[in-house]
Amino acid sequence: MRLKLLLPTIDVEKFEKPVKCPQKGCKGMRFYPRQEVRKRVVDAQHPVVSAWRYECMQCGCTFRVYPQGVSKAQISKRVNGMAVMLYVLGLSYGAVEIVLNSLGIAIGKSSVYRAVQAVAEKVPGMKREQLMDGYRTKAVGADVTSIRCNGEWIPIGIAVDATNGMVLSIDELPGENAEQLKAWLEPILEAVDADVLVTDDADAFKKVSDETGRSQQVCKSHVGRNTDALVEELSTLIQTGQDHSLEAMNISPEQALADLAALKTMIHTRLPEDQSKLEEMYLRYANARKPGKGKKHPVAYRMRNLFMDRWNLWPRLTFYRTWKDEHGNVILDGTNNDCERSIGWWIKERYRPMRGYKQKRSALGVSRLIAFAGNNLACGLRLTDLMA
Ligand SMILES: [Zn+2]
Repeated sequence: MRLKLLLPTIDVEKFEKPVKCPQKGCKGMRFYPRQEVRKRVVDAQHPVVSAWRYECMQCGCTFRVYPQGVSKAQISKRVNGMAVMLYVLGLSYGAVEIVLNSLGIAIGKSSVYRAVQAVAEKVPGMKREQLMDGYRTKAVGADVTSIRCNGEWIPIGIAVDATNGMVLSIDELPGENAEQLKAWLEPILEAVDADVLVTDDADAFKKVSDETGRSQQVCKSHVGRNTDALVEELSTLIQTGQDHSLEAMNISPEQALADLAALKTMIHTRLPEDQSKLEEMYLRYANARKPGKGKKHPVAYRMRNLFMDRWNLWPRLTFYRTWKDEHGNVILDGTNNDCERSIGWWIKERYRPMRGYKQKRSALGVSRLIAFAGNNLACGLRLTDLMA
């Protein structure tokens, strides 16, 4: 996890002149400075600051104006920022209290909790219902993970811009079937105007792509790994002569091994034109019989399914090869690594040392906050922008 968090600064000399009366319904815009008052603050450098009392010329109400980095709250924004930073880095609420207290900063763990929740709630976007305003991308990567919350596993959906890895949305899902994934993803695809969906090879995502009319790129690494493992397993079964289903179809072991080797090569070169070769190979095994209920699947039937699946999958696996921008450059790399990295860095890493959140609100809030910090890695995330 890489993060760049910018702490709020305090400048006791810097005041912003009031521009609007805080009184509800009052349109007053001119104010008298009435008096300078002392305010005690929880802060390492400034235990006391000056605030100004102003009076509204229109309604006569009085209110205070605080220097930069201080608000009407007792704790300075910098201290709240430090609390948030330490928490995000992996300390518990109680541990943040201990560290800050040892530095002479009197903050309790419930204040730490409130500071983290308040900042998390100010994170703009990151929810399906309110994505970044007007943001557009051609391709959305999506994946599902789960986190433990109050003893229960909850599915979390993450959607990223598949062209640059930026996180668009982190949401709690009711479940992971095609209907539920579609209900989650379709509004996101619409909002950013995406034409392409990037996912792993789960069938539910294929359905979402078909039903929303989006092209799909299925992660080449996932399919490569799964295919290699199956080729290995089936080849061993054929070589050790434990299975006679191929014999029954008059297919020699040499032929079957050659087909598996060819599939292994193709799955790694991923040439769009190889689809017809896969079809030919599938046809060799097409008549393999389905075993009776509860019976082990023989090699011939498993090869039939493997070749059929990869033949059908081919356009989704090789999509990235032919999808190019106006300069002829490919837009995607064919993987869903952006999503996996985002899950690892922004959702799982902070979550790991605590083995679970107590509340869903924190689970989502903290994940969104960390992901938002990740989106702002280049310039750093100004915590002060997330404080009232
Ligand atoms: Zn007023």
